[in-house]
Amino acid sequence: MSKSESLFAEAQKVIPGGVNSPVRAFRAVGGTPVFIERAEGAYLYDADEKRYIDYVQSWGPMVLGHAHPDVIDAVVEQAQSGLSFGAPTELETELAEELCRVWPNMDLVRFVNSGTEATMSAIRLARGHTGRDKIVKFEGCYHGHSDSLLVKAGSGALTMGVPSSPGVPAALADHTITLTYNDIEGVKKCFAEIGDQIACIIVEPVAGNMNCIPPVPGFLETLREVCDQSGAVLILDEVMTGFRVSLTGAQGHYGIEADITTLGKVIGGGMPVGAFGGKREIMEKIAPLGPVYQAGTLSGNPMAMVAGLETLQLIQEEGLYDALTAKTDRLVEGVLAAAKDAGIPLTANKVGSMFGFFFTDAKQVSNYQQVMACDTERFNRFFHGMLEQGVYLAPASYEAGFMSAAHSDEDIDTTIAAARRVFAHLD
Ligand code: PLP
Repeated sequence: MSKSESLFAEAQKVIPGGVNSPVRAFRAVGGTPVFIERAEGAYLYDADEKRYIDYVQSWGPMVLGHAHPDVIDAVVEQAQSGLSFGAPTELETELAEELCRVWPNMDLVRFVNSGTEATMSAIRLARGHTGRDKIVKFEGCYHGHSDSLLVKAGSGALTMGVPSSPGVPAALADHTITLTYNDIEGVKKCFAEIGDQIACIIVEPVAGNMNCIPPVPGFLETLREVCDQSGAVLILDEVMTGFRVSLTGAQGHYGIEADITTLGKVIGGGMPVGAFGGKREIMEKIAPLGPVYQAGTLSGNPMAMVAGLETLQLIQEEGLYDALTAKTDRLVEGVLAAAKDAGIPLTANKVGSMFGFFFTDAKQVSNYQQVMACDTERFNRFFHGMLEQGVYLAPASYEAGFMSAAHSDEDIDTTIAAARRVFAHLD
């Protein structure tokens, strides 16, 4: 028995399914989750001291790679001054200034503790601001696990084949309209019919929770247009894409502007943090300035703020994002070529340092239905083959992959060589 197997057995006695977030349990791919002991740069080390080249990167936050020494130093230094005060600090203003400088329309920003809190609060604010109840989201997009958003959600919910979760009141789910991602006509039709009842659209500007699905040309622009016409608030959920697909996220990459932006992952550099921010006239509705309530004991936590500040400073190094994109291209092209040589039908999508592979004959995958039509069983065998070879991919075919600044060309070539070996025996 490996150490991971015995640790998993112990964990299952006291934690539901042995994990604190469902996808970690490997239910989608089968087998035993790898228990991690430590991580450094591009690598994870499991409890048996096996090393893996990691393309999950804690589900996105670790854009610099794991345990960057400057981030660790900043956190250790802050720890000596105290872990939490429950009172304002200068650090919060510094990180807020940084976010307002980078993001379009971000006049004010509020920190929370997770991406889920960020999107949940942004939805409440949009409803409070417009006085409307209905919200629009897209099939296969995941925005965390708050009730209003766990309707036909992606990520873990998709993996388990549960379109929405028991425990979400039907009456609440009634207010959530789910449209097809990248279906421009569907959006126009919905707004033509009931645009004046819709508080907001929330969307992943690059969908990263049904594998990696970029927006088709005109999709994000249409969302902007219908929101402007109807008075609905456009919430771009950049929890995953923020400081990931480019230094200015998807908004910079595609030249689109949100009314409210939600952030998480990279802005905490690996610490639990989220944020939502936007136009002054909307953000002024949040307590204590306005009547829309939102709060948090640990919000703006100093440890999270310093990890975020240090990370944001380091990622602004000249050329970092070009290098990330080049590495992602190298990986995707190499794996596609290896699949082709082995006669395995494989398609890929990529934006900046996000990528996804699809086991399908289709030349392009651009919506949820197409993602669902891919060969999941073949992905699962591929996943286990790669894990065996020392490459850690997301343990479900519905998740995006992430490149970090710490991955070397050698790591990438090792990954491609591993894929070549796995493809040679993949049925
Ligand atoms: N929004 C998006 C786009 C996400 O990818 C996620 C998590 O993966 C969330 C929101 C929820 O963030 P968290 O897991 O920090 O609650």
